[in-house]
Amino acid sequence: MTRVDAKGTVEQAAERLRACRHVVALTGAGLSAESGIPTYRGSGGIWTKWGEPTIDGWELFNSDPGRWWEEAIDRQTLMSDFAQAIDRAEPNPGHLAMAELERMGRLHHVITQNIDDLHRRAGSRAVTEIHGNRHLVRCMSCGRRDRQDAIFLERLPPLCQECGGILKNDTVMFGEPIPADVLDECHRQANLADAFLVVGTSAVVYPAAEFPAMAKRRGAALLELNPEPTPLSRLADVVVRAPAGESLPRLAALLGTA
Ligand code: NAD
Repeated sequence: MTRVDAKGTVEQAAERLRACRHVVALTGAGLSAESGIPTYRGSGGIWTKWGEPTIDGWELFNSDPGRWWEEAIDRQTLMSDFAQAIDRAEPNPGHLAMAELERMGRLHHVITQNIDDLHRRAGSRAVTEIHGNRHLVRCMSCGRRDRQDAIFLERLPPLCQECGGILKNDTVMFGEPIPADVLDECHRQANLADAFLVVGTSAVVYPAAEFPAMAKRRGAALLELNPEPTPLSRLADVVVRAPAGESLPRLAALLGTA
């Protein structure tokens, strides 16, 4: 087992993956950091800098409405910067390398916590977006997803064209359950995986963080690509402390050679 501070190499990661038959990746905000989208946690993260947003807004509002408004306005400024960063972002070499690994048959599924759509835009096909997709809306009744720019907003809330149910943005909110179809697919992948590649996530958001650990308990290899330690580091067989935009293209190049 690798110690939290131990370092491995991309070559070691490639060697572990070479014989694997079903490789699943869990990706997080760190993968998109090199596309200009800030992370929440870790150095440079917007929560590291500004503090975590609260999920007990009503209680806080009652205790000090003035302060609540001040903070809400600050948060809105922050979030609009965040949303703009997502809208401007392009896939980076890390996303492109993951799509390449899928094409080569070396990566079989990506579970991403990112809402930015960059995996699909890079060409990955087998993707489950556990926290939703910023560009989609989801029907609360039948689960159908549509592009946000394809729905009618004359009447609010907008309704599903299929079943008339209420639409919400696909992004999973604090306290909202992960949609059942998505959760089922994550469990299915965790059960199939004989290797889990954990990229750019602080691995503290559940249930996402539990899938690599589940697979590891079944005997799968666990590989982490992250410049900083996470709670999964101590379970990992190989830890590569480098930005994903460097480690993933190198990994794809190594696995591309027989
Ligand atoms: P996080 O912000 O909690 O942690 C980011 C992790 O990325 C840290 O461990 C950090 O060390 C690592 N990191 C930073 N730069 C990296 C790089 N270049 N290469 C590899 N790793 C790097 O992110 P999280 O674990 O994904 O959890 C945050 C939640 O917030 C997610 O579930 C997601 O829904 C949401 N979020 C999404 C986006 C996005 O869509 N791009 C961005 C921020 C947050």
